Order: sequence, then structure tokens, then C-alpha cells
Amino acid sequence: MKQQNIFHDAGIRETPIRKAILSIFETSKTPLSAQDIESHTKLATLHPDTVTIYRTLETFCDAGIIRRIELQEGKFRYELEQEHHHHIVCLSCGKIQDIHDCIDEQTQRRIKKETGFTIQRHSLEFFGICADCRTA
Ligand SMILES: [Zn+2]
Ligand SMILES: [Zn+2]
Repeated sequence: MKQQNIFHDAGIRETPIRKAILSIFETSKTPLSAQDIESHTKLATLHPDTVTIYRTLETFCDAGIIRRIELQEGKFRYELEQEHHHHIVCLSCGKIQDIHDCIDEQTQRRIKKETGFTIQRHSLEFFGICADCRTA
């Protein structure tokens, strides 16, 4: 995806800091916290303050460029808004991996029936010990 198009499509102005932060997300394989962004080398020459980083993340969320996720760490993480997926987190080393499996139609129907809710979205995260940690 071209960066100009992303900003243009989202209806937000392109700035050097926004460009740098977007490119950090584009090259990251795991969801990032605000602290990860702040200490990233790509921002070294721009050195935005913490407030600017938080504001940029908020702008990106509102624009649908990234989404916020919560992995029970006491902080939020963010990742590019892309196809629907979930995460599994290693409780030992903190590694985060994407999961492309999801709850099936049948389960959703059961939940609807049980609660009387119509379901708009869900969040589903898994926690365990990764293969590397298990063999260590
Ligand atoms: Zn691990
Ligand atoms: Zn899902």
C-alpha cells in the first residue's frame, strides 16, 4: 500500500511524524505499544514528544488506519487495520503471534441465543507458553 493513498483515503494530512509512525507499523510483525513507537529508531531524528505520539495513534485509530488491542498487559497495543484476526501471547517471553482462526457461526448463534444480543464485534485472545520457551 502506498502511504500517500492511506493518508489521503483516511482524510488526514501527511506529516513527517505520521509517515514515520505508519512505516513503523508497516514493517512490524507484532502489535506495538506507544512506548515501542516512541523508542523506535525511525523516529530518532524527528524526536516527537509522548503527547504527539499518543495523539497520532488516536488519529490513526479514528481514521481506521490502525486498531487498538488489549492483551492484558496493562497497556494498549496497536496494529494496522487489516483482515480480521486474533492473537496468542506467550506468558513466558511475551511473544505475540497472529491467529487467523475465529469462532464459528454456530458458536456465534449459540451466544446470540443464550444472551439475546446481536453481536457487533468480538475480541478473542489466547495465552500460553510458546514452543521455544517450552523446550528451553
Ligand atoms: Zn515464549
Ligand atoms: Zn474473530
